[in-house]
This record gives sequence, C-alpha cells and structure tokens, in this order.
Amino acid sequence: MPPYLAENHQTVTAFLEKIDPKQFRFPFDFEAIHSYLDSLAPGDKMIKAALDIALHDLWAKIEEQPLWKLLGTDPTSIGPSACTLGIADPEVLKKKVAEAADFINLKVKLGSSNDRLLIETIRQHTDKPLFVDVNGGWTDREFALDMSFWLQEQGVVFLEQPFEKTRLEDLAWLNERSPLPVFADESCQVLADVEKLKGLVSGINIKLMKCGGIYQGLQLFQAAQKAGLQTLLGCMTETSCATFAALSIADRSNYVDIDGPWMLAEQPFRTPSLNKGIIQLAAGKGLGLENN
Ligand code: MG
Repeated sequence: MPPYLAENHQTVTAFLEKIDPKQFRFPFDFEAIHSYLDSLAPGDKMIKAALDIALHDLWAKIEEQPLWKLLGTDPTSIGPSACTLGIADPEVLKKKVAEAADFINLKVKLGSSNDRLLIETIRQHTDKPLFVDVNGGWTDREFALDMSFWLQEQGVVFLEQPFEKTRLEDLAWLNERSPLPVFADESCQVLADVEKLKGLVSGINIKLMKCGGIYQGLQLFQAAQKAGLQTLLGCMTETSCATFAALSIADRSNYVDIDGPWMLAEQPFRTPSLNKGIIQLAAGKGLGLENN
C-alpha cells in the first residue's frame, strides 16, 4: 500500500474487526454502507475501497451483468490510457518509449534536477502527447511557471501536482498563470477536497484507493463536474483487481491513466484488455476478471 496514505496490514485488520455485519440490512445499499464505514473511522480508505469493490462485484454477479453495464458506463466513451514512463536516465527512457509503442498518450514523472533533459530525450523518440506529473517535486513558483511555458511548447497536455500537497495557494497561483492546466493529485483525495480545490486548479486525479472505492469515485466525478474541474482517473501500486474496478466508471473521466496492470511481468487477468492503448471492458459478470 502506498506509504503516504498510512495504511498497512495491521490497520486493515483492526478496521475489519470493528465491522458489525448485523449493521447491514441490504448488502448493496452503498450509501448506507459507506456512511456506516465512515462512522467507524474517517480514514482507512483502502480497506473501504476493498470492501466496496467486493460488494460491487458481488452485486453485478447476482444481477448476472458486467458491473460497468449496471453502472451505466459507455465503453465507447473511455479515453485511451496513458503509459507512465517514470523518472529514468536517457538510455532507459529510450527503451521505455519503445515499450510503450501501443499507447497513444505517455505520462512522465518530473521533479528531478534534469527535467528538461528527460523531456528532450523523450522528444527525440516520440511526438506523442505527454501528461506531466511532478508528484509535488517543485518548490519554486517562478521556476514552475517557466517550466509550464516550456512544457507547453513540448506538447504537454497538463501538469499534475507541481507542488507539495498542502501548498494550495501555490497551485492556484500557477494555475492562474500557466498555459497548461494544473491538476491536483495528492491534494485531492476525498469528496471534501473537491470543494476546497474548486476555482484553484483546473482538474483532479481520482483514484479508488484514495477516496474509498467505486461509490465514492462516482461521487467525486459528479462533484468535479459541478465544480467545473476536469478529471483524470488514476491508479496506484495496487492489485490489478482494484485497477480494473476503476475501469467500470472510466467513461466519466476526461483522461485515463490506468496502465498499472500492464506494467506487471505477469498480469494475472486476461480481461479487461488493452489494445493499442484502448481499454476493452470485459463482457463477463461482475468485474469480469478472467484468469490468464
Ligand atoms: Mg500523480
């Protein structure tokens, strides 16, 4: 589990022990279930996401439908997933760009001392649109602003989390001046954060592990739309099952960054699949996961 969310096997076990199953009259009343889970503890989002995903899967299996269909998702409206290249030296980058040949958009992690060199290296090998994620790695406003103009010239689409997560004022300062839309990732975790970020940034990165699952993810998409924020659906270092659960609501997102499962040496599931960067939702019941 990503360390910054502060959950581990002990916290997960402790949370599960607090749950009294008798509290559930109906297992698929997600609003009631989440309000009960939140009454036990405000955080613990990853274990809440695990419960939420399992119940959504069960619900769709009982209904004998793919989950995405029950949720009214339009598979033809899901954008192509980006492929994350990570921070790497020029030789490794060349190899990574070649490996990502199937993807339409690439995502680059910046925030090191050679940001320009990384972009220039990528541009020697491809002219694909780039999503840039700084993971809070920049500290200087003026530097970030200069970079944003330069990155726009380099074919970058948006700039994610340029400053550390608590620096909302700096995110807003940059978003107002930058030719690139500024997206919040670490600064935007739960529903209440959308209200805080309204008018400050141009978009938010929604991840099931941050917000507590599919039900909460849908609420975030609705809130973002109401607040005039663009959306990016992302994933973490998490199970393929968790990432594929996010795909069931992916049509709500302006951008998709769901490449995690395809980075694994051994992907456990055959479906859903990825064809030239385009995600093909599974036809099977529930999450539709079929073992490889
Ligand atoms: Mg990010």
